[in-house]
Amino acid sequence: MQTREKKKINTYHVAQQRIKRAVEQSGLTMDVYEWLKAPDRLVEASIPVEMDNGRIQVFTAYRAQHNNVLGPYKGGIRFHPEVDADEVKALSIWMTFKCAVAHVPFGGGKGAICCNPRQLSVNELERLSREYIQHMALVLGPEKDILAPDVNTNAQIMAWMADEYCRIKQHNDFGVITGKPLEMGGCVGRETATARGVVYTVIEAAKVKEIPLPGARVAVQGYGNVGYFSALFLEQKGCKVVAVSDSGGGAYNPNGINCRDLLLHKKLTGSVKGFPGTDNLDNLEVYAVDCDIIVPAALENQITAEVAKGINARVIAEGANGPTTPQADEILKEKDVLVVPDILANCGGVIVSYFEWVQNNYRYYWTEKEIESRLELKMTEAFDHIYNYKCSCEDNTTMREAAFLYALRRLADAMKVRGWYK
Ligand code: GLU
Repeated sequence: MQTREKKKINTYHVAQQRIKRAVEQSGLTMDVYEWLKAPDRLVEASIPVEMDNGRIQVFTAYRAQHNNVLGPYKGGIRFHPEVDADEVKALSIWMTFKCAVAHVPFGGGKGAICCNPRQLSVNELERLSREYIQHMALVLGPEKDILAPDVNTNAQIMAWMADEYCRIKQHNDFGVITGKPLEMGGCVGRETATARGVVYTVIEAAKVKEIPLPGARVAVQGYGNVGYFSALFLEQKGCKVVAVSDSGGGAYNPNGINCRDLLLHKKLTGSVKGFPGTDNLDNLEVYAVDCDIIVPAALENQITAEVAKGINARVIAEGANGPTTPQADEILKEKDVLVVPDILANCGGVIVSYFEWVQNNYRYYWTEKEIESRLELKMTEAFDHIYNYKCSCEDNTTMREAAFLYALRRLADAMKVRGWYK
């Protein structure tokens, strides 16, 4: 049942539907939908890479540039064996809306390479990353389109990519990529920024729902960068992390799981499953445990209608992009679950990417304290904007609808004043 429902869902169509609905609700002309329904450009490349055994393997790679009315295209690049053009296009749409919600002067873009990074050696990964830039350099640039990490990519990969770009340009132009290591113009706190942002929205959502954070029970799907740090920071706020899962399975303990020890276990065994003192769960069973807050931090379309029916939590903060299907949204609305949507909950990453880009452009670097307080301010402002907007709309408007409407208005105003539609 699960697999069938998930297979039917085309993430790109979901993203388009959400824009269409927002345009209809806002009363704006359909010209706005015409502008936003598809990316400005999709670059698809076949990337030949010499493998360690001397053979050539060709990888399919993408960069979708959705809209740049508010600033250069901006968004991460992911490495995943199942990624396709429609997924990348959808993710680029969400970046446009996310940057508008976060009030950072960027548009939306997304990149991907169809590969299984676990099957590649370090040298093969480096050659693949550099080759991607060789194929995409023409459409990238600090004023054109700026990359960042996403699923299965990290600071090291950003360093290889930025270095390759600088070699092509024959000068250092670090602002072309964010999420770089500190040694080459990275920003302190970028690695933990998405999770910190998620936690700021959990704090605000918990206030709305009157859930005291100390003792609140948390479930997390995905234990990569966003899942792990979200769990850890919530644990530090006094929450009890009761269930965690990843693609290999899940771990459950109603008395709480130690987040750092769980990460060590995952590093040793490859999964959170089988952590001593916990019961085994399936990946999706984390959604059905008794808890107050859920942080989805894996891939798209995980919370289907079936999964939503089993949810007991009162708050969901979407660390992942697109984890909830539209059908599931309806069920969660009926259940009065406060869903903090991806384009708000996980915008801490792109906010600190913006700080990194500004610092690269100015060649003037801020302290960790400055970054943290600016992030906190921008996240709480973003939450307040969207929550107040929701309250000013019809009674049953969700946070997701409010976020899309709010972003849409910002985009439409900018397009109008630039003369993109009358
Ligand atoms: N990949 C992250 C996201 O989906 C970060 C994007 C960025 O920093 O540009 O929001």
